[in-house]
Amino acid sequence: MGKPKIIIIGAGLGGLSTGIYAQLNGYETVIYEKNPVPGGLAACWKRKDYLIDGGIHFLTGHKPGLNLYRVFEEVGVHKAEYVDIETYARYIDERSGIKVDISADLDKFHSDLLRLFPDDQRIINKFIKSTRGMSKTDISEFGFKEPMELMKTKDWIKEFWQNRKALKYFIGKSMKPVSEYVKKVKNPILKELFLYMFLPTVPVAFLWMVLSFVAQNQMGLLAKGSIDFAQKMEDRYLELGGKIEYKSKVTDILVEDDTAVGIKLEDSIVHNSDFVVSAIDGRTVIYDILDGVYTNEKINKIYSEWKTVDPFVSVSLGVDMEFKDEVWMTFFKSTDSVTIAEEEIDNIMIRFFNYSPHFAPKGKTVIQVDFETEWEYWFVLRDDMKEYNSVKKKLAEETIEWLEKRYPGINNNIEVIDVATPYTYWRYTLNERGAYMGFLPTSDAFTTTVEKRLPGLKNFYMAGQWSMSMGGVQPVIYSGKHVIQLLCHDEGKEFVTNNRVRRSN
Ligand SMILES: Cc1cc2nc3c(=O)[nH]c(=O)nc-3n(C[C@H](O)[C@H](O)[C@H](O)COP(=O)(O)OP(=O)(O)OC[C@H]3O[C@@H](n4cnc5c(N)ncnc54)[C@H](O)[C@@H]3O)c2cc1C
Repeated sequence: MGKPKIIIIGAGLGGLSTGIYAQLNGYETVIYEKNPVPGGLAACWKRKDYLIDGGIHFLTGHKPGLNLYRVFEEVGVHKAEYVDIETYARYIDERSGIKVDISADLDKFHSDLLRLFPDDQRIINKFIKSTRGMSKTDISEFGFKEPMELMKTKDWIKEFWQNRKALKYFIGKSMKPVSEYVKKVKNPILKELFLYMFLPTVPVAFLWMVLSFVAQNQMGLLAKGSIDFAQKMEDRYLELGGKIEYKSKVTDILVEDDTAVGIKLEDSIVHNSDFVVSAIDGRTVIYDILDGVYTNEKINKIYSEWKTVDPFVSVSLGVDMEFKDEVWMTFFKSTDSVTIAEEEIDNIMIRFFNYSPHFAPKGKTVIQVDFETEWEYWFVLRDDMKEYNSVKKKLAEETIEWLEKRYPGINNNIEVIDVATPYTYWRYTLNERGAYMGFLPTSDAFTTTVEKRLPGLKNFYMAGQWSMSMGGVQPVIYSGKHVIQLLCHDEGKEFVTNNRVRRSN
């Protein structure tokens, strides 16, 4: 008898991770991907001599020191090229002239905050103390070691015991969203700084965690862009004997007697398998492809009540100039706004790809300006291609004008202009509302398990950003691992990683 066969839909990081762990566990796998390349949202594209990175901003786990690194080795991404982040971001409030670097050096960051916002001494001291405390722990695998579905009371007790030093930072008021937390902050600029460090909906403990990774020098940038990360996973998957069929859009999941038995492609060709794993948009699979037959109250509640992350519109420029003194990411609270989707936006995020030679020829730089925006506007606009292109052109012009005031000379040195809208992200990956990270990370989402199996449907699993309460590189890689842990458990098999055998339950 041959090996059991798994069909995986989607070669994003979630699908690739599933494939890697499935191959490690003796399954035969084929991934069907609609695009000609791997990576999904972890995408880059060439414009003349410039490499535009439209994906991952930063990540944790890229070097030895945290438990997460072992998982990076398992999926092969320890071979990607990284640059450590020394400054998480620069925050500039143009109205007051205040400028703060969110530095890996917590002493410096602490004294800068106290100097600039003396009225908020108490909250600043507590914020830094918690960040510092967390940076002495390793929480990189907390809640990820095993799929939640397999965790029993004794496993939770063990998990809590092993992470007891970090746990005190994740209880009570620490799980309040940052938007609530800042109500106690007196200075409005410090308020804004906290709000835009990540997303206002995340618990404040999440900010401490992110900054604690920065302080441990455990936050990295991809020196060759997001595609390098995806390609390292693809290499690992192919080395293990996995197969990928590109330009193959799945339109149907075949079900017989409430059991997934294969898939149908856009050209009507059918492929059979023993198991099917979906690593694509959750709503499309559950409610369109499977007609909403295999759901329950919990799933319906998630898909009807949880919001998705607001998408970006991203303006990238190839500029014949160097920006050696700029940090890789700057948040502006700007005095003049840019019009996006008929709204005046004054929170503006800029990335300078000046940390590696792989994005632009010598002496030149890619600058990317990201604006959070709404989905509906772009989706409706795209019906009129002429108008859509004209809005993109106008946005690029306004962005350049805005940049020129802050970085004189840019206007005359632009060699490449590229605008990616929420529609672009949707068209490329088919993620609901162009959501680049799945569900909006809220305290509610953080404490809810999103199931990777659908009720009533056998031999079917879900991986990727819609199978976790929050997307992002780390959760998505674990989602693939969890699916194969669950599958091995359901099959009564032992789960193996890198030749180390671990019980799946
Ligand atoms: C601009 C940006 C910045 C980000 N920054 C960070 C960051 O700093 N840190 C971090 O951790 N995360 C970040 N993320 C999020 C992270 O990249 C994603 O959460 C993660 O890559 C999602 O992977 P996935 O496999 O779940 O989904 P996807 O990447 O969407 O992969 C799904 C794949 O399935 C394919 N597909 C869809 N439908 C079909 C079909 N019917 N048939 C066949 N194939 C199909 C798609 O083409 C795609 O390749 C960022 C994302 C973006 C876009």
